[in-house]
Amino acid sequence: QSRKRWWRVVKALDEFEEAASTPVGRLKQVVDAMAVEMHAGLASEGGSKLKMLLTFVDKLPDGSESGIYYALHVGGTEFRITRIELGGQRSILVHDVERKPIPQHLMTRTSEEFFDFIALSMKEFVDQKENNSQLSQIRGKDIGFTFSFPVKQTSVSSGTLIKWTKGFAIDDMVEEDVVECLQNALSGRGLDMNVAALVNESVGTLSVGHFYDEDTVAAVVIGTDTNACYLERADAIIKCQGLLTTSGGMVINMEWGNFWSSHLPRTSYDIDLDAESQNPNDQGFEKMISGMYLGDIVRRVICKMSLVTDVFGPCTSKMLTQFVLSTPLMAAMHEDESPDLSEVAKILEETLDIHDVPLKVRKLIVKVCDVVTRRAARLAASGIVGILKKIGRDGTGGITSGRIRSVESGKMRRTVVAIEGELYTNYTMFREYLNKAVAEILGEEIAPYVILKVTEDGSGIGAALLAATNSA
Ligand code: ADP
Repeated sequence: QSRKRWWRVVKALDEFEEAASTPVGRLKQVVDAMAVEMHAGLASEGGSKLKMLLTFVDKLPDGSESGIYYALHVGGTEFRITRIELGGQRSILVHDVERKPIPQHLMTRTSEEFFDFIALSMKEFVDQKENNSQLSQIRGKDIGFTFSFPVKQTSVSSGTLIKWTKGFAIDDMVEEDVVECLQNALSGRGLDMNVAALVNESVGTLSVGHFYDEDTVAAVVIGTDTNACYLERADAIIKCQGLLTTSGGMVINMEWGNFWSSHLPRTSYDIDLDAESQNPNDQGFEKMISGMYLGDIVRRVICKMSLVTDVFGPCTSKMLTQFVLSTPLMAAMHEDESPDLSEVAKILEETLDIHDVPLKVRKLIVKVCDVVTRRAARLAASGIVGILKKIGRDGTGGITSGRIRSVESGKMRRTVVAIEGELYTNYTMFREYLNKAVAEILGEEIAPYVILKVTEDGSGIGAALLAATNSA
């Protein structure tokens, strides 16, 4: 009897592995789909699930910037003030940061109360940092504003809030210009500062990347959520005819978490996860890739296994609770190097209430983690190569024109992608699978020219750098 049940668990794992498999042929289909969807999203408004939003950023920091700049990042639960002093030649001389939790009650009041609280905190920070003799220098200082909610940008320094997420509900702000709200609050507190750039997090990452390395053409963020942006030619942004930019290019915020393609290896677990999520039919790519979801996919597979076997004992209520198994815990199981997988046993016990799991079952759980992470990392890699393909940097000639070989010398062009986010930086197996997949898809001739570079603090430093390049 028990042997028969064990066979069923193995079968469940095999079926999952098969459904989630990512052979390089399939990855290349995802690459193509990404490039095609990018094209469609640029061709017309609503032309693709990829929104391909204009950012109006047409000039990226190049390291020559100097002076004092600020950034303000309003995230989900906290906000952060950053101050940097730039000394030219790619140097950041001073870097100060202050974080503050956003008081819960302000998340549902009026925009005035909310922004006044931020302006007041900003004033305290500025007063503390700039001693009196420097106060005159502070006048008119530029701020980069990273506002981590869906915004429709209308210029590099203006944009309207589309909708609130993450538990916020300040109704009078929807469809209002978020920069105007901040600017008014700052003036109200007597701060003579100028909000010079409204910055999406991924664009901040691209800015940091470009500040240190001018071959940086795209940026990817893979943390709790995921997004990407890249530098596009203005004439390729068909939905915005006659777009004039000084550089001839513009950064496009892809909102790639919402990418979808029938080539994505979707399993029954993904379908259930989506159906039970707060945003069904939305953010399909993100739900297979980002830190918010990976642990929960693993939990769902374990749940299914517990239904077909008794190796886990009866199904526990914790096992049925969404998001109890976080991605860092899943990573800890995946990377458990103890001979008896004691970390796996401990996490199963503490988070899912599953006790006395035999070693062979622990091994199987590690395998489940491996399948989930490998798929996520390889799909993210395909997305990255998809961007390179769109701009002709993948060595295949792109969907517009072949531009990886420079015309003059016939040599390959070095291409850098900036990456940020703790799923990539903290989860070694994820990072290794992603790096390997990028090289595998590109092939050994092209891969050496494509460099993935970890950058830090796009939402702080990156936003301040954009304030510098867009300063009045
Ligand atoms: P954000 O929360 O703003 O997206 P982070 O880059 O800090 O930015 O990402 C945090 C997310 O990264 C966590 O929610 C988690 O999913 C994932 N993460 C962090 N550390 C680890 C880890 N050691 N192993 C696996 N995932 C991790």
